[in-house]
Amino acid sequence: MIYHNEITKLLNTKKIKKTAMRILVLQFFLEQNSAISLPQLEHKFYYSERTTLYRTLKTFETKALVHKINDGTGVTKYALCESNCKIEKHTDIHPHFYCEKCKITTCINYVSLPKIQLKNFKVFTTEIIIKGICEVCNKVA
Ligand SMILES: [Zn+2]
Ligand SMILES: [Zn+2]
Ligand SMILES: [Zn+2]
Repeated sequence: MIYHNEITKLLNTKKIKKTAMRILVLQFFLEQNSAISLPQLEHKFYYSERTTLYRTLKTFETKALVHKINDGTGVTKYALCESNCKIEKHTDIHPHFYCEKCKITTCINYVSLPKIQLKNFKVFTTEIIIKGICEVCNKVA
């Protein structure tokens, strides 16, 4: 397995116990390099239970290995967190890009969002979705 060392290291850093399913799902995330939805996972791992896949995602999310993305498509997607993301609270707050052509959502890690404070409002999360044509589709067009 190409990513074996990287996978073991990632799971260890995030204090996630290694299971066959977790290793496979993490490998898929590393290969995709873009956001993944539960239906996509179900399609890829058609032989496993939906609940197992869902629980794997939940564990990854709780342990700050992946973060949730609402890109406006109505399907929740997940993407790998930055290595310094904290278990207690996701600290990797960055915009996401949704490509209208290939429908792929990507993390824009090199842009960090300002922490927006609103007077008398409680802010839980800040999400910015940028829509357009991604660099891959842009090259083809
Ligand atoms: Zn995170
Ligand atoms: Zn695209
Ligand atoms: Zn992201």
